Formats: sequence, structure tokens, C-alpha cells
Amino acid sequence: MSAKPIITRFAPSPTGFLHMGGARTALFNHLFTKKLEGKVILRIEDTDKIRSTPEYEASIIDSLKWLNISYDQTFKQSEREEIYKKYLKKLIDEGKAYISKETQAVEDPAIGKNGKDNSDFRSEVIRFKNPGKKVTFTDLIRGDITFDTTELKDFVIAKSLEEPLYHLAVAVDDFEMEITHVVRGDDHISNTPRQILIQEAIGAPRPIYAHLPIILATDKSKLSKRKHGEAVSLNFYRDKGYIPEAIINFLALLGWNPGTDQELFSIGELEKIFDISKVQKGGAVFNTEKLDWINRQYIAKMTNDEFVTQTEKYIPKWLNTSSVQFKKILPLIKEKIICWSDIQKLFDREGELSFIKDISDYPASLLLWKKNPDPKASSKHLEAVRTLIEDIQDNNDSEFTVEVIKNAIWAYVETNGKGDVLWPLRVALTGKERSPDPFISSSILGKAETLKRIDLALTKL
Ligand code: GLU
Repeated sequence: MSAKPIITRFAPSPTGFLHMGGARTALFNHLFTKKLEGKVILRIEDTDKIRSTPEYEASIIDSLKWLNISYDQTFKQSEREEIYKKYLKKLIDEGKAYISKETQAVEDPAIGKNGKDNSDFRSEVIRFKNPGKKVTFTDLIRGDITFDTTELKDFVIAKSLEEPLYHLAVAVDDFEMEITHVVRGDDHISNTPRQILIQEAIGAPRPIYAHLPIILATDKSKLSKRKHGEAVSLNFYRDKGYIPEAIINFLALLGWNPGTDQELFSIGELEKIFDISKVQKGGAVFNTEKLDWINRQYIAKMTNDEFVTQTEKYIPKWLNTSSVQFKKILPLIKEKIICWSDIQKLFDREGELSFIKDISDYPASLLLWKKNPDPKASSKHLEAVRTLIEDIQDNNDSEFTVEVIKNAIWAYVETNGKGDVLWPLRVALTGKERSPDPFISSSILGKAETLKRIDLALTKL
């Protein structure tokens, strides 16, 4: 006899874009299930017709695809109304639920993210006949949790036979889909006893629960869209040009760690070592500095070819990515950015690498070294350096390297003072205070352009 296969589900409500917490739930379901060679279901929970939209649904599916999280099967609750109806009828027939006359509006308890009021007045709804008892369930992360369900009273499970609400749909689907493990955010802990009561009433086995810790901002407040704005949405990071693999790596560490110092993991590695019993109970702090660090590590690991393919839409069109010059610029870009959108900033007018395209006008005073602000000194050094650079035998740009330039002028620099010589050279080449060191700038610009810019500086002095 073979063991029962593991089946889990990620069950987003399409009432908002996928947020980082939802993405973590999707990832932890994926990792937990892959390790045990089970199957993961994507279940779109759109019973809340007021808040759910097809746009949010499409966006969530697109985000999961971008993260490279895939599913063995997909279901949509709005296409399963016949199934819920069958269970509702049965519950009513067996006296476990009843039609109740109402005087107040009902809300679908599905977690809504777009803040729209979903309350709806019906003169009749279907209520669950709550047996009012203590329910204890074992959570893989939190241990035993006990609730007295008496205070939940006879809660509403459907607006009508055709309109089930969240708890009923979840309990029925977990049963019908043979879900063995429910891995979800701990904001659902208080929903669990209701769902267990419904399971018992329909004769469903109880899945094993694992409620993932809340995600906190660095000030330890609950991370929320209201307070933290766009920074909670996955699209925000996607639009800024973070690498999906880096986001996966970051999300994996939100509440879990392998118990070693290792911080960088590929998804394949995570699938092997992820252990749900190592997930912490306490809140997981969402530290964007950590995300930035991880993203930079992924950038550093990339080959130049990968880098160029990934960043095509961010690199300014005037740069020829197959040129020798670009090869020289690439390490600088890699070193200076956190995510892809920073590339554009580097080449903006104010950006540190904008000098490559053209030099903007700068005041002559910028060419003066602060410890010896004499125009004659700057001009003497620039002339000397100009001659030394002119004498370099370069046949092409690839030979005009940092080393070659350094070898040509280093002796002069040492005798005459680093700041005295290199400061005016830096400004002459870039027109800026904040810029790469002049050997790098000169190599990128090439010999002819270097000489041209030194000449321009000399005319200013
Ligand atoms: N649809 C619920 C949500 O988006 C998740 C329900 C569940 O995982 O049981 O929060």
C-alpha cells in the first residue's frame, strides 16, 4: 500500500494584486510540496463577487508565472457553484444548516484587499447550525490550537444555494480536491475552527494545517498596504527590475532559515532543503535592505551575456552592447546598481555614467584641486598627462586599458601628487565630482576622446 500523496493548494482571492505575503504563501506551498513529491493546486477563490475582478485574477496568475511557480492543476470557485449547491442542500436536508430570515446585511468573510465594502442585504441567508464545542487542531508550526466555537454562533455559510460564502467553499474544496495540507498565512488561524466545523458536518477528513508567521515591517508593525503602500506588492519590485530568483530567495527567508549561515539559495536547492518544521512562529521582518543585498548577489553572479539579455530594455539605446566600450562599462554598472531600473538613473543627466555619452558644461573652478587651487598647476599637470597618454601606442580600444593608462602616467602621478594630478584629470574627463576613477573613465572614453576632453579642460584654465 502506498502512502497517500501530498496535495496542497495556493488559494488567492482575486481582490487585489499579489502581495509579497501571498507570494511567500505560494512559495512555501510549492517548496513543502515539491520536497514531498506531492501536487500543488492553484485555486482562485472568487466567491466574493463584489471585490473579485478578472484583472486581479490575471495579474496574480501572471505574477506567479514571473516567479516561475507553476501548478499541477487550477480551479476557480466561481465555476464550481453546482458542487457547493449540492453540499448546501445536503447540509440543510440533514438539519446541519438552515435558511434564516435576516434583518442585517451579510459580508463575505473572504479576505478582501481592495477595501471595497462587500456587505449585501438579503432577507434570507443560509446559516450553519453550530454545535458549539471546543475544537483543537494541530498546526505544524504552532502546535495545538484550541478554540471554543460557541461564540461563533450560527454563522452564515451562503447567501443562497447558488451563492456560497468563503468558509463553505474552502471546506468543500479542500475535501473535494483531497487537500492533505493547508499552508497559509496566520491571518487565517481564526477561520480554521469554522472550516473544521463545516468539514465535520460534510464528513470530510481534516487536513493538516501550517499557518505561516505574520510579515512585519522593520518597525515591527504589521506590513500592510494601507501603511506601507506599494512596497508590499510584488509588482512594485517587478517594475523596479528585481530578479525573480532573488525575490524567491528573499521570500524563502521570510520566516524560515536552514539553520546554517547560508543565505543564497536557488529554487532547486530550496526544494531539497526546505523544512516546514523550521518555520518560525514569531513575525518575520520584511527587510528591504536584505532584498537589495540578495539582488546584488544575483547580479554579481550573472555572466555578461545573461546581464545584457536581462537588461536590454533598461540600457540606453546609444550604447552598443556588443562594443568593446560596453565591455568596459559593464563591471561599473554591475557594481553600482541594486535593480535594473537603477541602470537608467546611472545614465540620466545627473547620473554617474552620463559623462560617457557627452560631457556637460562645468565651471573651470571644478578643475582646481582643493589643496592647491592654482589654475596654472592644474593646467601644467593636464598638459603633462596629455603628452603621456598621447604617446601610448594603441591600435584599438581594447588595448587602451586601465593598466596601460596607469603604466603610462603613474610615475608622473607619484612624483607630483595624486590629488594634484588625478583630480583635474577626473573632472576633465567627466565634468563631475562624483565619477569613476580617471583611469577607468579614460579607458571607457578611448584615447581620442580622452585627449579631446583634456584639450577642452585646458581651454577653460
Ligand atoms: N482566499 C484566501 C486569501 O486570499 C486564502 C484562503 C486559504 O488559504 O484558505 O487570503
